Amino acid sequence: MYCNYCGKVIQDDAVVCAYCGIRVGASVARKRLVRPRQGRKIAGVCLGFAEYFDIDVTLVRLVWLVTVIMSGIGLIPYIIGWIVMPEEPLLLTAPAGAQGVTNP
Ligand SMILES: [Zn+2]
Repeated sequence: MYCNYCGKVIQDDAVVCAYCGIRVGASVARKRLVRPRQGRKIAGVCLGFAEYFDIDVTLVRLVWLVTVIMSGIGLIPYIIGWIVMPEEPLLLTAPAGAQGVTNP
């Protein structure tokens, strides 16, 4: 494929252009709004937003809490986020004992 910025030919699976350093794989490895499985407090909604927008999860939780208290609408947005946001896919782990195969 070609870099959109400098027009040079780059690897098809390249994430960053080797010539100009511009990120080119953004459309392929698009960030998704998911609820991470690790580090969550309740359902992972705040953590999901924090990772999606690349901000501190504590800040998200504070803003969320203030919004819940000040707006008077309670936890309805959180519950909606809980339902709407998909859970992060399970990471595939090597089965136990697979490491022993290479041993003589
Ligand atoms: Zn380039």
